[in-house]
Amino acid sequence: MIWQQITEAELNSFWQGAEQTIQPVKQKIDNISHTNQAKVLRAFQNIGVSDFHFNGSTGYGYGDMGREVLESLFATVFGSESSLVRNQIVSGTHAISLCLFGNLKPGDELVSIGSPYDTLQQVIGISGSGEGSLLEWGITYKEIPFDCTGQIDLQKLSEAIGPHTKMVSIQRSRGYQDRPSLNISQMEKIIQHVKALNPDIICFVDNCYGEFVEDREPPEVGADLVAGSLIKNPGGGLAPAGGYIVGKKELVTKAAYRLTAPGIGPEVGASPMGYRLLFQGLFLAPHIVGEAIKGAVFTACLMEKLGFRVYPRYNQPRTDIIQAIEFGSPDLLVAFCQGLQSGSPVDSHVLPEPALLPGYTDKVIMAAGTFVQGASIELSADAPIRPPYTLFLQGGLTESYIKLGVAAAVKKLLTVAKERSS
Ligand SMILES: *Cc1c(COP(=O)(O)O)cnc(C)c1O
Repeated sequence: MIWQQITEAELNSFWQGAEQTIQPVKQKIDNISHTNQAKVLRAFQNIGVSDFHFNGSTGYGYGDMGREVLESLFATVFGSESSLVRNQIVSGTHAISLCLFGNLKPGDELVSIGSPYDTLQQVIGISGSGEGSLLEWGITYKEIPFDCTGQIDLQKLSEAIGPHTKMVSIQRSRGYQDRPSLNISQMEKIIQHVKALNPDIICFVDNCYGEFVEDREPPEVGADLVAGSLIKNPGGGLAPAGGYIVGKKELVTKAAYRLTAPGIGPEVGASPMGYRLLFQGLFLAPHIVGEAIKGAVFTACLMEKLGFRVYPRYNQPRTDIIQAIEFGSPDLLVAFCQGLQSGSPVDSHVLPEPALLPGYTDKVIMAAGTFVQGASIELSADAPIRPPYTLFLQGGLTESYIKLGVAAAVKKLLTVAKERSS
């Protein structure tokens, strides 16, 4: 079967075939969503959330009860001692940066499992100008590469860890890189290994895109400090902005000293707009993440049936919401993105084009018709324009909408392919 010549009837049969094929996988996703929903609900009940906790505060935000209750809720849900959940944390990168700058001092060494997310390379100082980076500040850095089987060589990790190693940083999601994601049990092994070498080393986890994909979170397997973005999974599509940090109290407090000031730390920070969307977003997050994964699994199955290489495959275990699809050609990749955008609820009339962005070496295309700017828990796709022309698709607030979006994308893809072959 050459997919370029597919008829509408054949596409329909692939579509139905994909829906059939993924049924058992969907059942497992529903089970995880249910477990996580129960965990979140129990936390709301045990903490005694009331509607007055949704009210905002002004000025310094001293004694802001909504903020305090929201933070104990996050700590409970993630199985950690303490948390910092703030609109003043502007992004995932900011939350991670607070953890690093708050807990590393000149002379300390940071060891990263695999190469970190693009924006963090600039925080560390291994790309960009280095200004304001950890390296400039006298914090040294080492990276343990994934081996050819996508594993971390624990022997190499042992050798890399030295007397100055203060923190080991683990990124759960592959992000937009050509490396595997690290699931919770792999993470557990790495953390146990590090702690056996030296229990004082801080095990930090970049949890972006991973929250609620499995039924355990990093603090439950020994992570000391964890950070992520509220416009990804744990905001449930409702959080308008913000980031979170969870972990040991002492380490979270040091991160808070960076967010505000030493001495003041987590005790201040007003939210004049109130907290309802953060509470409600967290409450919905297990379900929304389930919808996003069901959409990703469907897309993986359909695109594979059409002959594209996808990863993960529809039936492979997942620990994040990202779906990669290899297009092998720039025009097909662009067509899929443009079709996806045309199927969005917001900015459907806008035509995304590849463009150069600061910090990237190749042109990048992004499709995102989202309610919250840049929210990647909403259906969105990004790709650098370079071989093998891999698109990273993620999010979507309802499974039906993800399928409708993908239908629009596939339609545009077929139109462009037919034009090309005629
Ligand atoms: C998104 C992401 C980040 C950074 O998040 P921003 O909110 O875009 O700053 C860091 N690490 C990973 C793995 C991510 O997916």
